[in-house]
Amino acid sequence: MSETIEHVKCLIIGSGPAGYTAAIYAARANMSPVLYQGTQPGGQLTTTNEVENFPGYPDGVTGPEMMLELQKQAERFDTDVRDGWVTKVDFSGPVHKVWVNDTKEIHCDTVIISTGASAKYLGLESEQKYLKLGGGVSACAVCDGFFYRNQEVVIVGAGDSACEEAHYLSKLCKKVTMLVRRDEFRASKIMEARVRNTENIDILFNTNTDEVLGDGQVVTGVRVKNNVTGAVSEIPATGFFVAIGHKPNTDIFKDYLELDETGYIINVPGTSRTNVEGVFVSGDAADHVYRQAVTAAGTGCMAALDAERYLAAKEAEVHV
Ligand SMILES: Cc1cc2nc3c(=O)[nH]c(=O)nc-3n(C[C@H](O)[C@H](O)[C@H](O)COP(=O)(O)OP(=O)(O)OC[C@H]3O[C@@H](n4cnc5c(N)ncnc54)[C@H](O)[C@@H]3O)c2cc1C
Repeated sequence: MSETIEHVKCLIIGSGPAGYTAAIYAARANMSPVLYQGTQPGGQLTTTNEVENFPGYPDGVTGPEMMLELQKQAERFDTDVRDGWVTKVDFSGPVHKVWVNDTKEIHCDTVIISTGASAKYLGLESEQKYLKLGGGVSACAVCDGFFYRNQEVVIVGAGDSACEEAHYLSKLCKKVTMLVRRDEFRASKIMEARVRNTENIDILFNTNTDEVLGDGQVVTGVRVKNNVTGAVSEIPATGFFVAIGHKPNTDIFKDYLELDETGYIINVPGTSRTNVEGVFVSGDAADHVYRQAVTAAGTGCMAALDAERYLAAKEAEVHV
């Protein structure tokens, strides 16, 4: 083996709640995990100022603070946390090969994928401005809906997730206006019916978002345009929710792992196992349903335990 190739017992890709939790468990099981953080150290939560639903923080915590604490906990047990982006993998043989920054080659006994997913946004300048300010734009109703109790919000999207999120918001907010670009939903009939039958959800079809309006700090409304009549109007709102889908960060795995049509990695139900032995998945990279920090952390724990049991079984085979 060339000197430039490193051998690692447990490689973890990603530094969100899934990756760090996997690291804590793997390190405490003597698996000497190496974790690559990627371009977003700490993951998606570093983009939010208020996390109120992660157990153990009775007064809430900012996302960056919580993720630094998770990193510290992983490092306390000697996880080797590194800066770097995994650019290529080869899972075709018995040794799993991973390349970091297109140069460094690592051979791994086990790989835990915790690369998360990215929420899709409309891409409007005003949307991105209030998103970065933490001023009322969100891609997660379950995470942020609570902050808009008894207020009026707008949600954009037409699929099952959008309907589910609109319905969730309707139980907290005074009024939810749902913007649907076409003249029909993409959602299943049952989800559509749920939204249509909810009194405080107002659905606007053939409607595009023109601009997210605000006072420079927080959202105050949304300007919309009917794409059939051309009519422009403004909807007062303190929150603007985007529910047009997520993109799992899984492109580099597609030649080896089974993915669903959106790109989520398919795991063996009830486990973190993928279709490749020794490769495990945790967090949002495999989860299009819950997408929460606590579920990501839970599956990170599962992945480390599954990896540890896989290695133990292989060692036992050698000694038989
Ligand atoms: C604005 C916002 C607010 C949220 N608020 C809450 C909340 O209040 N409560 C809650 O429970 N959930 C919240 N969520 C959801 C929560 O952040 C996610 O469910 C959670 O972060 C998923 O964790 P993860 O570890 O799977 O992935 P992520 O947090 O997405 O982390 C993925 C990691 O993988 C790394 N990565 C990706 N590709 C590569 C690669 N090729 N090589 C190396 N590294 C790579 C990235 O750098 C990143 O570190 C929020 C999400 C957003 C966007």
